[in-house]
Amino acid sequence: TSGMVIVGAGEAGVRAAFALREQGYQGPVTLLGDEPHLPYERPPLSKAGEEAETVRAIVAEARFPEAEIVFRRGCKVAAIDRAEHSIVLEDDGVLRYERLLLATGAAPRHILGLRYGERIHTLRTVEQAAAIRRVMRDGQHLIILGGGFIGLELAAMGRRLGAAVTLVEMQPRVLMRGVPERLALALQARHEAEGVNIICGQGVATITEDQTSVTVTLADGRRIDGDALVIGIGAEPNTAIAAEAGLAIENGIVVDDHLTTSDPGIFAAGDCCSYPVAVYGGRRARLESWRNAQEQGNVAAANMLGKVEVFDSVPWFWSDQYDLTLQVAGLADGSVSTVARHLSNEAELLFHLDADGRLLSASGLGPGGAVARDIRLAEMLIARRAHPDPAMLADPSVKLKSLL
Ligand code: FAD
Repeated sequence: TSGMVIVGAGEAGVRAAFALREQGYQGPVTLLGDEPHLPYERPPLSKAGEEAETVRAIVAEARFPEAEIVFRRGCKVAAIDRAEHSIVLEDDGVLRYERLLLATGAAPRHILGLRYGERIHTLRTVEQAAAIRRVMRDGQHLIILGGGFIGLELAAMGRRLGAAVTLVEMQPRVLMRGVPERLALALQARHEAEGVNIICGQGVATITEDQTSVTVTLADGRRIDGDALVIGIGAEPNTAIAAEAGLAIENGIVVDDHLTTSDPGIFAAGDCCSYPVAVYGGRRARLESWRNAQEQGNVAAANMLGKVEVFDSVPWFWSDQYDLTLQVAGLADGSVSTVARHLSNEAELLFHLDADGRLLSASGLGPGGAVARDIRLAEMLIARRAHPDPAMLADPSVKLKSLL
């Protein structure tokens, strides 16, 4: 038999491969990844204190043979032949599948016409992280384009390692997408206190480089000279092989609530897919989130085996910058009111409610533990579609647990 084939050996693909075994599947499992490494964790690549040069493996190499999973690295899938139930490898090999999982992830958005690699970088892989890290030291000036999570995490990492950092964001503030203004501004202030030069509300006119430096000219004519530039302006889902095979695409590979694509033999999970978010009545979203990739890998594996599991997790994301953690549970779209809960001078939670008083989302910023614990409880409230009393949410002496 041809068995289960998984394209993409990242968080979602690896989890799915092992979940197939955990769920009792005994046929062949093949995991194909185009990177030359063992599957590795991406979050540490942009976080200070982690060793970017050493790959942090998702699982130890020995676990693949132990679980009888055939893992092939450096193996790019070029096409899907749906009629034949097979995939075509870039090196011309063909592999048949009984069920196929696409876990191809996402790739950084580029600015066309730039020469990437030496002084101009994007960040998704361990090689790119190592290249960026080389300029993170005293006497070097790193320019970051984009005030999203990756840009901000790199700014914090750059400062920790002694580099000067300038961050340019076209929007009026950092983290416009998905993080409430109050928390974004608090975080921005912290970056400025740490010495990051943040410029918001400015587009880029030109980017030029010579042998030793890179120059960014802003729309208002200001010139910024740096030793390296990181472009952190978002990511696009890797949908090429799915699109060529005629699968439905809509900001990602379209899946239903079982993570099945428009072809019942093909599933998708992780950053590459757009799925209906059950807790919001099936409104579509595509997340770029570590835990989402794992959870979707688990559910996709079950459904590849003919089970009927609905993916209904609440979206959740975290980011670490300096000693602060930022966490967001749920999606705030459609919220009409916000309730704040002060945990301490440095830690705050925000709850976002819809017109009926239902809790849609919660976000928190602060040093470690308290934020994480309360966001976890908020996530449970969101999952239960709770309508908590706003006065209770605002009162830090009321335990969130008591509202469950
Ligand atoms: P990926 O991890 O991207 O894996 C997909 C794999 O498929 C890749 O190896 C790709 O090369 C391969 N592939 C693609 N096409 C093919 C093909 N045709 N043939 C073979 N292989 C293919 N999330 C958080 O929640 N918190 C964080 O703090 C956080 N920090 C992050 C920091 C960085 C620098 C980055 C890049 C991401 C971060 N994320 C974070 C996001 C998180 O890492 C992703 O959501 C997660 O990796 C998604 O897993 P995935 O398996 O869907 O995709």
